[in-house]
Amino acid sequence: MYRFTKFLGSLEHYELVRLKQELEKGTLNVAKSIQEKIKEHEKKHASYCTTCSNTLDHYNSNNYTIIFGPEDFRKKASFCGLDCLEYFLIKIKQIKKGEKNAEKIE
Ligand SMILES: [Zn+2]
Repeated sequence: MYRFTKFLGSLEHYELVRLKQELEKGTLNVAKSIQEKIKEHEKKHASYCTTCSNTLDHYNSNNYTIIFGPEDFRKKASFCGLDCLEYFLIKIKQIKKGEKNAEKIE
């Protein structure tokens, strides 16, 4: 939480006082604000293609973003086209297969 400490350090005294008051009154719902921010992040395409590292043009309709993993450990990957998405999925499949095989050996 280094960045949070840094954020607090960036606030003026009066802002800290107001923040404390809002938290105590319950008018500032931190968990909700954070949840909304997370959703915002998840909606956005990343800036680079996960497979080929191309810069993504955000207005290009060939972009794809997938979100995967459990709620508390969401991961996101963006791609510049179907080929890159496909390549990524094949890789993931291979990794998953490897994990399953490893389980069998144990
Ligand atoms: Zn790509």
